[in-house]
Amino acid sequence: MDEILSVKDLYVEYTSDKGILGKKQIVHAVNGVSLDIKKGEILAIAGESGCGKSTLAKAIIQLEPAKSGEIIFEGQNTLKFGRKELKNFRKHVQMVFQNPYSSLNPKMKIIDTLKEPLQINTKLSNAEIEKIVEEKIELVGLDKSCLCLYPHEFSGGQRQRIAIARALVLNPEFILADEPVSALDVSIQAQIINLIKELKEKFNLTFLLITHDMSVIKYLADRVAIMYLGEIVEIGNTFSIFNNPKHPYTKALLNAVPKIGKRLNTSNMLTGDLPSPENLPQGCKFHTRCPKVMPVCRESEPPVVKISDSRCVKCFLYNNQDS
Ligand code: SF4
Repeated sequence: MDEILSVKDLYVEYTSDKGILGKKQIVHAVNGVSLDIKKGEILAIAGESGCGKSTLAKAIIQLEPAKSGEIIFEGQNTLKFGRKELKNFRKHVQMVFQNPYSSLNPKMKIIDTLKEPLQINTKLSNAEIEKIVEEKIELVGLDKSCLCLYPHEFSGGQRQRIAIARALVLNPEFILADEPVSALDVSIQAQIINLIKELKEKFNLTFLLITHDMSVIKYLADRVAIMYLGEIVEIGNTFSIFNNPKHPYTKALLNAVPKIGKRLNTSNMLTGDLPSPENLPQGCKFHTRCPKVMPVCRESEPPVVKISDSRCVKCFLYNNQDS
């Protein structure tokens, strides 16, 4: 599989005024992330709230400015794009957000919401645009009669289908889906998950899936990257990560997933809260919570170790011979 997009050593920082006495502080949201996203795959980014996964997705589509690094799409660094090139890039890369209600304009009929990206980005006639809109709404499992309704007239699951249809109207190659099912009722989540899977298989679409829900990842993702305090600490095929997690943080995340008929395994449970990204710990950023912490972990940053062709772990417990 060829790479559709590569992120190289990406840093994203922003200023927060939530410090002591309102003093401004630097939030280190993404800290040196490098990863490749292959054409036609679903790569999931997993981690606790506040680990930087949504900021990473927004930085890829340039809704958040990057401090440094590269984002390579079709051989070009998108961080160097001017306005025209960026507009063209965003036709190829679309985003689906967590809350479909806030991502749809409540005052616009669905037909106008779906027509808008085509009116802005193409020179198609109104009849051609309406034909595409009807195709896309049917593609996400809704009847075209719903096009003349407003967002409030739909359920949460239907609104997320509409948000996905809007992301599809420009025929993107790559979709960033940020917690696409977490705002939905459990009974509806499976429908949207299956829709994403169908779209990927039917159109060879590539997805970057941002989620904290490990069961969604297990069902949907081809590969998974585990993120902690703005860093990727482990990346690999979903099957191998779920069956043989290496990084102590990955083990803790997987142990926290309830399994029917089994007692919760507390041996690798995390204690303590995620440290603040304003005050990153020295050495390994996970050392304040790691059950396997060693003296070296408090002083030095662990290397990224390639333990197989498709698997990397950032931890002192592993070396290149140890898989
Ligand atoms: Fe734990 Fe040390 Fe590995 Fe960090 S480097 S995850 S603290 S063992």
